Amino acid sequence: MRIAVIGTGYVGLVSGVCFSDFGHDVVCVDKDPDKVAALREGLVPIYEPGLSDLMVRNVTAGRLTFTQDLASGMKDADAVFIAVGTPTRRGDGHADLSYVRAAAVEIAPLIDSYTVIVTKSTVPVGTNRKIRDLIRQTNPGAEFDVASNPEFLREGAAIDDFMLPDRVVIGVETERAAEVLRAIYRPLYMREFPLVTTDIESAEMIKYAANAFLATKITFINEIAALCEKVGADVKAVAHGIGLDNRIGRKFLHAGPGYGGSCFPKDTRALARIGQEHAAPVHIVEQVIAVNEEIKRQMVAKLTDLCGGSFRGKRIAVLGVTFKPDTDDMREAPSLTIVPAMLGGGAEVRVADPQGRREGEELLPGVAWCKDAYEAADGADLVVILTQWHEFRALDLERMSSAMRTPQMADLRNIYTAEDARKGGFTAYMGIGVAGFANGSDSEAAVGF
Ligand code: NAD
Repeated sequence: MRIAVIGTGYVGLVSGVCFSDFGHDVVCVDKDPDKVAALREGLVPIYEPGLSDLMVRNVTAGRLTFTQDLASGMKDADAVFIAVGTPTRRGDGHADLSYVRAAAVEIAPLIDSYTVIVTKSTVPVGTNRKIRDLIRQTNPGAEFDVASNPEFLREGAAIDDFMLPDRVVIGVETERAAEVLRAIYRPLYMREFPLVTTDIESAEMIKYAANAFLATKITFINEIAALCEKVGADVKAVAHGIGLDNRIGRKFLHAGPGYGGSCFPKDTRALARIGQEHAAPVHIVEQVIAVNEEIKRQMVAKLTDLCGGSFRGKRIAVLGVTFKPDTDDMREAPSLTIVPAMLGGGAEVRVADPQGRREGEELLPGVAWCKDAYEAADGADLVVILTQWHEFRALDLERMSSAMRTPQMADLRNIYTAEDARKGGFTAYMGIGVAGFANGSDSEAAVGF
Protein backbone atom coordinates (compact mmCIF):
# COMPACT_ATOMS: atom_id res chain seq x y z
CA MET A 1 0.00 0.00 0.00
CA ARG A 2 1.00 3.61 -0.47
CA ILE A 3 0.26 5.73 2.56
CA ALA A 4 0.56 9.44 3.33
CA VAL A 5 0.53 10.54 6.97
CA ILE A 6 -0.21 14.18 7.72
CA GLY A 7 1.43 15.37 10.94
CA THR A 8 4.66 13.94 12.35
CA GLY A 9 3.98 14.35 16.07
CA TYR A 10 3.87 11.51 18.58
CA VAL A 11 1.08 9.73 16.73
CA GLY A 12 1.82 10.59 13.10
CA LEU A 13 5.50 9.77 13.25
CA VAL A 14 5.04 6.52 15.14
CA SER A 15 2.23 5.47 12.77
CA GLY A 16 4.25 6.37 9.68
CA VAL A 17 7.35 4.57 10.91
CA CYS A 18 5.40 1.45 11.92
CA PHE A 19 3.38 1.35 8.68
CA SER A 20 6.65 1.49 6.74
CA ASP A 21 8.01 -1.29 8.92
CA PHE A 22 4.97 -3.36 7.89
CA GLY A 23 6.35 -3.02 4.34
CA HIS A 24 4.13 -0.21 3.05
CA ASP A 25 5.47 2.84 1.20
CA VAL A 26 4.96 5.79 3.50
CA VAL A 27 5.36 9.52 3.06
CA CYS A 28 5.15 11.58 6.25
CA VAL A 29 4.07 15.16 5.68
CA ASP A 30 4.47 18.01 8.14
CA LYS A 31 4.15 21.73 7.66
CA ASP A 32 6.88 22.46 10.20
CA PRO A 33 10.03 22.93 8.07
CA ASP A 34 12.40 22.37 11.01
CA LYS A 35 10.78 19.04 11.83
CA VAL A 36 10.94 17.85 8.26
CA ALA A 37 14.58 18.94 7.94
CA ALA A 38 15.50 17.12 11.16
CA LEU A 39 13.64 13.96 10.12
CA ARG A 40 15.40 13.96 6.75
CA GLU A 41 18.69 14.01 8.61
CA GLY A 42 17.58 10.98 10.61
CA LEU A 43 16.89 12.97 13.77
CA VAL A 44 13.71 12.25 15.73
CA PRO A 45 12.32 15.49 17.19
CA ILE A 46 10.63 13.72 20.13
CA TYR A 47 11.86 11.27 22.74
CA GLU A 48 10.22 7.88 22.21
CA PRO A 49 12.15 4.70 23.00
CA GLY A 50 13.01 2.63 19.91
CA LEU A 51 11.58 5.12 17.43
CA SER A 52 14.86 6.45 16.10
CA ASP A 53 16.31 3.04 15.16
CA LEU A 54 13.10 1.88 13.52
CA MET A 55 12.82 5.12 11.56
CA VAL A 56 16.38 5.00 10.26
CA ARG A 57 15.96 1.34 9.28
CA ASN A 58 12.91 2.06 7.16
CA VAL A 59 14.34 5.22 5.60
CA THR A 60 17.40 3.19 4.61
CA ALA A 61 15.15 0.50 3.15
CA GLY A 62 13.56 3.18 0.96
CA ARG A 63 10.04 2.77 2.37
CA LEU A 64 9.83 5.98 4.39
CA THR A 65 10.29 9.60 3.32
CA PHE A 66 9.50 13.04 4.74
CA THR A 67 8.22 16.12 3.01
CA GLN A 68 6.45 19.42 3.50
CA ASP A 69 4.74 19.01 0.15
CA LEU A 70 1.38 17.29 0.55
CA ALA A 71 0.84 17.01 -3.22
CA SER A 72 3.90 14.81 -3.69
CA GLY A 73 3.09 12.91 -0.50
CA MET A 74 -0.43 12.10 -1.68
CA LYS A 75 0.57 11.00 -5.18
CA ASP A 76 -0.92 7.53 -5.83
CA ALA A 77 -1.73 7.13 -2.13
CA ASP A 78 -4.27 4.43 -1.22
CA ALA A 79 -4.86 6.11 2.12
CA VAL A 80 -4.12 9.45 3.72
CA PHE A 81 -3.98 9.47 7.52
CA ILE A 82 -4.73 12.74 9.31
CA ALA A 83 -2.67 12.74 12.53
CA VAL A 84 -2.56 16.43 13.41
CA GLY A 85 -3.17 17.83 16.88
CA THR A 86 -6.62 18.39 18.38
CA PRO A 87 -5.83 20.42 21.51
CA THR A 88 -8.43 22.05 23.71
CA ARG A 89 -9.94 25.11 22.08
CA ARG A 90 -9.36 28.24 24.10
CA GLY A 91 -12.20 29.16 26.41
CA ASP A 92 -14.83 26.47 25.96
CA GLY A 93 -13.19 23.06 26.47
CA HIS A 94 -14.14 21.87 22.99
CA ALA A 95 -11.59 20.11 20.79
CA ASP A 96 -9.88 22.60 18.48
CA LEU A 97 -10.49 21.14 15.04
CA SER A 98 -8.77 23.88 13.07
CA TYR A 99 -5.73 21.69 12.24
CA VAL A 100 -7.95 18.81 11.11
CA ARG A 101 -10.07 21.13 9.02
CA ALA A 102 -6.99 22.74 7.46
CA ALA A 103 -5.64 19.30 6.58
CA ALA A 104 -8.95 18.34 4.95
CA VAL A 105 -8.98 21.58 2.93
CA GLU A 106 -5.46 20.82 1.71
CA ILE A 107 -6.25 17.18 0.90
CA ALA A 108 -9.46 17.85 -1.09
CA PRO A 109 -8.07 19.23 -4.38
CA LEU A 110 -5.27 16.65 -4.44
CA ILE A 111 -7.45 13.52 -4.67
CA ASP A 112 -7.01 12.21 -8.20
CA SER A 113 -7.95 8.53 -7.77
CA TYR A 114 -9.80 6.49 -5.14
CA THR A 115 -8.30 7.35 -1.72
CA VAL A 116 -9.40 6.62 1.82
CA ILE A 117 -9.09 9.68 4.04
CA VAL A 118 -8.50 8.26 7.51
CA THR A 119 -8.69 10.31 10.69
CA LYS A 120 -6.25 9.10 13.34
CA SER A 121 -6.49 12.28 15.36
CA THR A 122 -8.93 12.09 18.26
CA VAL A 123 -11.98 13.99 17.02
CA PRO A 124 -15.52 14.57 18.32
CA VAL A 125 -18.35 12.48 16.92
CA GLY A 126 -19.45 13.86 13.59
CA THR A 127 -16.05 15.21 12.53
CA ASN A 128 -15.39 12.57 9.87
CA ARG A 129 -18.71 13.35 8.23
CA LYS A 130 -17.81 17.03 8.23
CA ILE A 131 -14.49 16.15 6.57
CA ARG A 132 -16.38 14.13 3.96
CA ASP A 133 -18.79 16.99 3.23
CA LEU A 134 -15.98 19.53 3.04
CA ILE A 135 -14.02 17.42 0.55
CA ARG A 136 -17.16 16.78 -1.51
CA GLN A 137 -17.92 20.49 -1.72
CA THR A 138 -14.35 21.41 -2.64
CA ASN A 139 -13.77 18.60 -5.12
CA PRO A 140 -17.14 17.19 -6.26
CA GLY A 141 -15.53 14.72 -8.67
CA ALA A 142 -13.20 13.18 -6.09
CA GLU A 143 -13.41 9.43 -5.60
CA PHE A 144 -12.87 8.82 -1.89
CA ASP A 145 -14.20 7.49 1.39
CA VAL A 146 -13.61 8.78 4.90
CA ALA A 147 -12.76 6.45 7.77
CA SER A 148 -12.07 6.76 11.47
CA ASN A 149 -9.09 4.89 12.90
CA PRO A 150 -8.48 6.25 16.40
CA GLU A 151 -5.09 5.64 17.93
CA PHE A 152 -4.54 4.12 21.37
CA LEU A 153 -0.75 4.14 21.66
CA ARG A 154 0.83 5.33 24.89
CA GLU A 155 3.78 7.67 24.76
CA GLY A 156 6.83 5.87 26.14
CA ALA A 157 5.59 2.51 24.83
CA ALA A 158 4.33 3.71 21.47
CA ILE A 159 6.10 1.27 19.17
CA ASP A 160 5.01 -1.80 21.14
CA ASP A 161 1.48 -0.47 21.42
CA PHE A 162 1.33 0.09 17.69
CA MET A 163 2.86 -3.26 16.79
CA LEU A 164 1.03 -5.29 19.45
CA PRO A 165 -2.26 -3.45 19.85
CA ASP A 166 -5.02 -4.60 22.20
CA ARG A 167 -7.28 -3.81 19.27
CA VAL A 168 -7.47 -1.76 16.10
CA VAL A 169 -10.70 0.17 15.61
CA ILE A 170 -11.91 1.17 12.17
CA GLY A 171 -15.07 3.12 11.50
CA VAL A 172 -16.16 2.96 7.88
CA GLU A 173 -19.10 3.68 5.60
CA THR A 174 -18.15 1.34 2.76
CA GLU A 175 -16.70 -2.11 2.32
CA ARG A 176 -14.17 -0.64 -0.08
CA ALA A 177 -12.68 1.56 2.63
CA ALA A 178 -12.70 -1.33 5.10
CA GLU A 179 -10.71 -3.42 2.61
CA VAL A 180 -8.02 -0.75 2.29
CA LEU A 181 -7.68 -0.48 6.06
CA ARG A 182 -7.62 -4.25 6.49
CA ALA A 183 -4.84 -4.43 3.90
CA ILE A 184 -2.87 -1.78 5.76
CA TYR A 185 -3.13 -3.63 9.08
CA ARG A 186 -2.81 -7.13 7.57
CA PRO A 187 0.83 -7.57 8.66
CA LEU A 188 -0.46 -7.52 12.25
CA TYR A 189 -2.89 -10.39 11.66
CA MET A 190 -0.17 -12.93 12.39
CA ARG A 191 -0.56 -11.93 16.02
CA GLU A 192 -4.34 -12.27 16.00
CA PHE A 193 -5.35 -8.95 17.43
CA PRO A 194 -9.02 -7.94 17.42
CA LEU A 195 -9.98 -5.67 14.52
CA VAL A 196 -13.12 -3.83 15.52
CA THR A 197 -14.98 -2.73 12.39
CA THR A 198 -17.86 -0.41 13.08
CA ASP A 199 -19.61 2.72 11.89
CA ILE A 200 -17.77 6.02 11.95
CA GLU A 201 -19.65 7.58 14.88
CA SER A 202 -19.00 4.58 17.11
CA ALA A 203 -15.29 4.56 16.24
CA GLU A 204 -15.04 8.25 17.12
CA MET A 205 -16.87 7.63 20.39
CA ILE A 206 -14.77 4.58 21.32
CA LYS A 207 -11.66 6.73 21.59
CA TYR A 208 -13.24 9.33 23.90
CA ALA A 209 -14.98 6.72 26.01
CA ALA A 210 -11.73 4.75 26.43
CA ASN A 211 -9.74 7.78 27.56
CA ALA A 212 -12.51 9.04 29.82
CA PHE A 213 -12.78 5.62 31.46
CA LEU A 214 -9.03 5.46 32.12
CA ALA A 215 -9.00 9.01 33.48
CA THR A 216 -11.92 8.02 35.73
CA LYS A 217 -10.06 4.96 37.01
CA ILE A 218 -6.99 7.03 37.91
CA THR A 219 -9.10 9.71 39.56
CA PHE A 220 -11.04 7.10 41.51
CA ILE A 221 -7.90 5.66 43.08
CA ASN A 222 -6.58 9.17 43.73
CA GLU A 223 -9.70 10.01 45.73
CA ILE A 224 -9.54 6.69 47.55
CA ALA A 225 -5.90 7.50 48.35
CA ALA A 226 -6.89 10.78 49.98
CA LEU A 227 -9.42 8.89 52.10
CA CYS A 228 -6.85 6.20 52.93
CA GLU A 229 -4.62 8.88 54.40
CA LYS A 230 -7.40 10.03 56.71
CA VAL A 231 -8.42 6.57 57.92
CA GLY A 232 -4.99 5.00 58.12
CA ALA A 233 -5.38 2.59 55.20
CA ASP A 234 -2.71 1.91 52.60
CA VAL A 235 -3.82 2.70 49.05
CA LYS A 236 -1.24 0.34 47.58
CA ALA A 237 -2.81 -2.57 49.44
CA VAL A 238 -6.28 -1.36 48.52
CA ALA A 239 -5.36 -1.06 44.82
CA HIS A 240 -3.85 -4.53 44.89
CA GLY A 241 -6.86 -5.95 46.67
CA ILE A 242 -9.40 -4.51 44.27
CA GLY A 243 -7.25 -4.86 41.15
CA LEU A 244 -7.05 -8.63 41.49
CA ASP A 245 -10.76 -8.69 40.72
CA ASN A 246 -10.77 -9.31 36.97
CA ARG A 247 -13.77 -7.07 36.54
CA ILE A 248 -11.69 -4.18 37.88
CA GLY A 249 -8.18 -5.04 36.69
CA ARG A 250 -4.85 -3.96 38.16
CA LYS A 251 -3.79 -1.33 35.68
CA PHE A 252 -4.33 2.40 36.18
CA LEU A 253 -4.74 2.01 39.91
CA HIS A 254 -1.54 3.78 40.95
CA ALA A 255 -2.33 6.77 43.10
CA GLY A 256 -0.44 9.91 42.12
CA PRO A 257 -0.55 13.67 41.78
CA GLY A 258 -3.41 13.74 39.23
CA TYR A 259 -3.42 12.76 35.58
CA GLY A 260 -1.89 14.98 32.92
CA GLY A 261 -0.45 14.49 29.48
CA SER A 262 -1.38 15.17 25.90
CA CYS A 263 -4.66 13.24 25.88
CA PHE A 264 -6.61 12.65 29.11
CA PRO A 265 -7.10 16.30 30.09
CA LYS A 266 -8.15 17.50 26.64
CA ASP A 267 -10.20 14.40 25.79
CA THR A 268 -12.16 14.43 29.05
CA ARG A 269 -12.89 18.12 28.53
CA ALA A 270 -13.97 17.50 24.94
CA LEU A 271 -16.23 14.59 25.92
CA ALA A 272 -17.86 16.65 28.66
CA ARG A 273 -18.44 19.37 26.12
CA ILE A 274 -19.90 16.97 23.54
CA GLY A 275 -22.30 15.66 26.20
CA GLN A 276 -23.42 19.16 27.13
CA GLU A 277 -23.98 20.12 23.50
CA HIS A 278 -26.15 17.06 22.91
CA ALA A 279 -28.11 17.58 26.12
CA ALA A 280 -26.74 14.29 27.44
CA PRO A 281 -24.24 15.51 30.02
CA VAL A 282 -21.59 13.00 31.07
CA HIS A 283 -21.71 13.88 34.76
CA ILE A 284 -19.08 11.36 35.80
CA VAL A 285 -16.55 12.80 33.40
CA GLU A 286 -17.37 16.35 34.47
CA GLN A 287 -16.66 15.32 38.06
CA VAL A 288 -13.44 13.56 37.07
CA ILE A 289 -12.16 16.77 35.51
CA ALA A 290 -13.02 18.80 38.61
CA VAL A 291 -11.59 16.22 41.03
CA ASN A 292 -8.36 15.95 39.06
CA GLU A 293 -7.88 19.71 39.31
CA GLU A 294 -8.62 19.52 43.02
CA ILE A 295 -6.05 16.74 43.48
CA LYS A 296 -3.34 18.85 41.90
CA ARG A 297 -4.24 21.71 44.26
CA GLN A 298 -4.18 19.30 47.22
CA MET A 299 -0.64 18.31 46.26
CA VAL A 300 0.47 21.92 46.51
CA ALA A 301 -1.21 22.25 49.91
CA LYS A 302 0.42 19.06 51.21
CA LEU A 303 3.84 20.12 50.02
CA THR A 304 3.37 23.53 51.63
CA ASP A 305 2.54 21.77 54.92
CA LEU A 306 5.66 19.67 54.63
CA CYS A 307 7.65 22.89 54.28
CA GLY A 308 6.18 24.19 57.54
CA GLY A 309 3.41 26.27 55.99
CA SER A 310 5.40 28.24 53.42
CA PHE A 311 7.77 27.62 50.52
CA ARG A 312 9.63 30.84 51.23
CA GLY A 313 13.37 30.34 51.46
CA LYS A 314 13.14 26.59 50.87
CA ARG A 315 15.32 24.77 48.41
CA ILE A 316 13.29 22.03 46.72
CA ALA A 317 14.59 19.26 44.48
CA VAL A 318 12.02 18.09 41.93
CA LEU A 319 12.66 14.71 40.36
CA GLY A 320 10.80 14.42 37.06
CA VAL A 321 8.70 17.04 35.31
CA THR A 322 7.40 15.17 32.25
CA PHE A 323 3.85 13.90 32.63
CA LYS A 324 5.10 10.32 32.80
CA PRO A 325 8.39 8.45 32.33
CA ASP A 326 9.91 7.58 28.94
CA THR A 327 8.58 10.64 27.19
CA ASP A 328 9.71 14.26 26.88
CA ASP A 329 6.08 15.38 26.63
CA MET A 330 5.19 18.07 29.16
CA ARG A 331 1.65 18.77 28.00
CA GLU A 332 -0.54 19.35 31.07
CA ALA A 333 1.98 17.61 33.33
CA PRO A 334 1.21 17.98 37.08
CA SER A 335 4.64 19.67 37.34
CA LEU A 336 3.21 22.65 35.48
CA THR A 337 0.84 23.29 38.41
CA ILE A 338 3.10 22.24 41.26
CA VAL A 339 6.46 23.81 40.31
CA PRO A 340 5.11 27.32 39.58
CA ALA A 341 3.28 27.20 42.94
CA MET A 342 6.59 26.47 44.67
CA LEU A 343 8.40 29.20 42.78
CA GLY A 344 5.55 31.64 43.39
CA GLY A 345 5.70 30.82 47.09
CA GLY A 346 9.35 31.82 47.24
CA ALA A 347 11.12 28.44 46.86
CA GLU A 348 14.30 27.78 44.97
CA VAL A 349 13.51 24.81 42.68
CA ARG A 350 16.15 22.47 41.30
CA VAL A 351 14.98 19.97 38.69
CA ALA A 352 16.37 16.68 37.44
CA ASP A 353 14.64 14.94 34.55
CA PRO A 354 16.30 12.61 32.03
CA GLN A 355 14.40 14.06 29.06
CA GLY A 356 12.34 16.99 30.31
CA ARG A 357 14.77 19.85 29.93
CA ARG A 358 14.28 20.67 26.24
CA GLU A 359 10.53 21.26 26.66
CA GLY A 360 10.73 22.26 30.29
CA GLU A 361 13.14 25.17 29.95
CA GLU A 362 10.47 27.28 28.32
CA LEU A 363 7.56 25.99 30.38
CA LEU A 364 9.21 26.24 33.78
CA PRO A 365 11.19 29.48 33.79
CA GLY A 366 13.10 30.14 36.98
CA VAL A 367 14.09 26.57 37.89
CA ALA A 368 17.70 25.36 37.96
CA TRP A 369 18.35 22.26 35.80
CA CYS A 370 20.56 19.62 37.36
CA LYS A 371 22.32 16.66 35.84
CA ASP A 372 20.82 14.11 38.22
CA ALA A 373 18.81 13.59 41.39
CA TYR A 374 21.83 13.99 43.67
CA GLU A 375 22.84 17.33 42.24
CA ALA A 376 19.24 18.52 42.55
CA ALA A 377 19.03 17.41 46.18
CA ASP A 378 22.28 19.05 47.25
CA GLY A 379 21.48 21.37 50.17
CA ALA A 380 17.73 20.91 49.66
CA ASP A 381 14.99 21.04 52.30
CA LEU A 382 12.68 18.71 50.41
CA VAL A 383 12.92 16.27 47.53
CA VAL A 384 9.73 15.77 45.53
CA ILE A 385 9.38 12.78 43.21
CA LEU A 386 6.95 13.86 40.52
CA THR A 387 7.67 11.38 37.69
CA GLN A 388 8.65 7.75 38.21
CA TRP A 389 11.58 7.62 35.78
CA HIS A 390 13.61 4.41 36.15
CA GLU A 391 16.64 6.28 37.40
CA PHE A 392 14.64 7.56 40.38
CA ARG A 393 13.49 4.09 41.41
CA ALA A 394 16.70 2.91 43.04
CA LEU A 395 18.25 6.04 44.47
CA ASP A 396 20.96 5.87 47.10
CA LEU A 397 18.79 7.48 49.74
CA GLU A 398 21.56 7.77 52.31
CA ARG A 399 23.76 9.62 49.86
CA MET A 400 20.87 11.89 49.02
CA SER A 401 19.68 12.61 52.58
CA SER A 402 23.18 13.28 53.86
CA ALA A 403 23.65 16.02 51.25
CA MET A 404 20.33 17.73 52.07
CA ARG A 405 19.80 20.61 54.50
CA THR A 406 16.55 19.08 55.78
CA PRO A 407 16.15 15.51 54.51
CA GLN A 408 12.43 15.34 53.71
CA MET A 409 10.82 13.39 50.90
CA ALA A 410 7.49 13.82 49.14
CA ASP A 411 7.10 10.73 46.99
CA LEU A 412 4.08 11.51 44.81
CA ARG A 413 4.45 8.21 42.91
CA ASN A 414 4.79 5.88 45.92
CA ILE A 415 8.12 4.51 44.66
CA TYR A 416 9.51 4.22 48.18
CA THR A 417 7.97 3.47 51.57
CA ALA A 418 8.18 5.31 54.87
CA GLU A 419 10.49 2.53 56.01
CA ASP A 420 12.83 3.02 53.02
CA ALA A 421 12.96 6.75 53.73
CA ARG A 422 13.59 6.30 57.45
CA LYS A 423 16.38 3.83 56.78
CA GLY A 424 17.78 6.19 54.18
CA GLY A 425 18.17 8.96 56.76
CA PHE A 426 15.10 11.05 55.94
CA THR A 427 13.33 12.87 58.77
CA ALA A 428 10.03 13.15 56.91
CA TYR A 429 8.27 11.07 54.27
CA MET A 430 4.99 11.71 52.51
CA GLY A 431 3.55 9.34 49.94
CA ILE A 432 0.07 9.28 48.38
CA GLY A 433 -2.52 7.39 50.39
CA VAL A 434 0.12 5.58 52.47
CA ALA A 435 1.65 5.97 55.91
CA GLY A 436 4.17 8.73 56.29
CA PHE A 437 6.08 10.46 59.05
CA ALA A 438 7.15 13.96 59.89
CA ASN A 439 9.90 15.18 62.22
CA GLY A 440 10.92 11.57 62.66
CA SER A 441 7.55 10.39 64.06
CA ASP A 442 4.61 8.60 62.43
CA SER A 443 1.67 10.59 61.16
CA GLU A 444 -1.57 9.64 62.81
CA ALA A 445 -4.84 8.96 61.10
CA ALA A 446 -7.84 10.55 62.75
CA VAL A 447 -10.45 7.83 63.06
CA GLY A 448 -13.58 8.45 65.11
CA PHE A 449 -15.57 5.61 66.67
P1 NAD B 1 1.48 16.65 18.00
O1 NAD B 1 1.05 18.01 18.39
O2 NAD B 1 2.65 16.01 18.66
O3 NAD B 1 1.77 16.63 16.42
C1 NAD B 1 0.95 17.21 15.45
C2 NAD B 1 1.80 17.47 14.20
O4 NAD B 1 0.95 17.84 13.12
C3 NAD B 1 2.81 18.61 14.35
O5 NAD B 1 4.10 18.15 13.98
C4 NAD B 1 2.30 19.70 13.39
O6 NAD B 1 3.36 20.46 12.82
C5 NAD B 1 1.61 18.85 12.36
N1 NAD B 1 0.58 19.54 11.55
C6 NAD B 1 -0.47 20.28 11.99
N2 NAD B 1 -1.22 20.68 10.94
C7 NAD B 1 -0.65 20.18 9.82
C8 NAD B 1 -0.97 20.21 8.43
N3 NAD B 1 -2.05 20.86 7.98
N4 NAD B 1 -0.14 19.59 7.56
C9 NAD B 1 0.95 18.94 8.00
N5 NAD B 1 1.28 18.85 9.31
C10 NAD B 1 0.50 19.45 10.21
O7 NAD B 1 0.18 15.74 18.17
P2 NAD B 1 0.08 14.23 18.71
O8 NAD B 1 0.36 14.16 20.16
O9 NAD B 1 0.79 13.34 17.77
O10 NAD B 1 -1.50 14.00 18.54
C11 NAD B 1 -2.11 13.91 17.28
C12 NAD B 1 -3.53 13.39 17.47
O11 NAD B 1 -3.47 12.03 17.94
C13 NAD B 1 -4.37 14.16 18.48
O12 NAD B 1 -5.69 14.21 18.04
C14 NAD B 1 -4.26 13.30 19.73
O13 NAD B 1 -5.38 13.45 20.56
C15 NAD B 1 -4.22 11.91 19.15
N6 NAD B 1 -3.54 10.94 20.02
C16 NAD B 1 -2.39 11.28 20.65
C17 NAD B 1 -1.75 10.34 21.44
C18 NAD B 1 -0.47 10.70 22.18
O14 NAD B 1 -0.06 9.92 23.03
N7 NAD B 1 0.17 11.80 21.89
C19 NAD B 1 -2.28 9.04 21.58
C20 NAD B 1 -3.45 8.73 20.90
C21 NAD B 1 -4.08 9.69 20.11
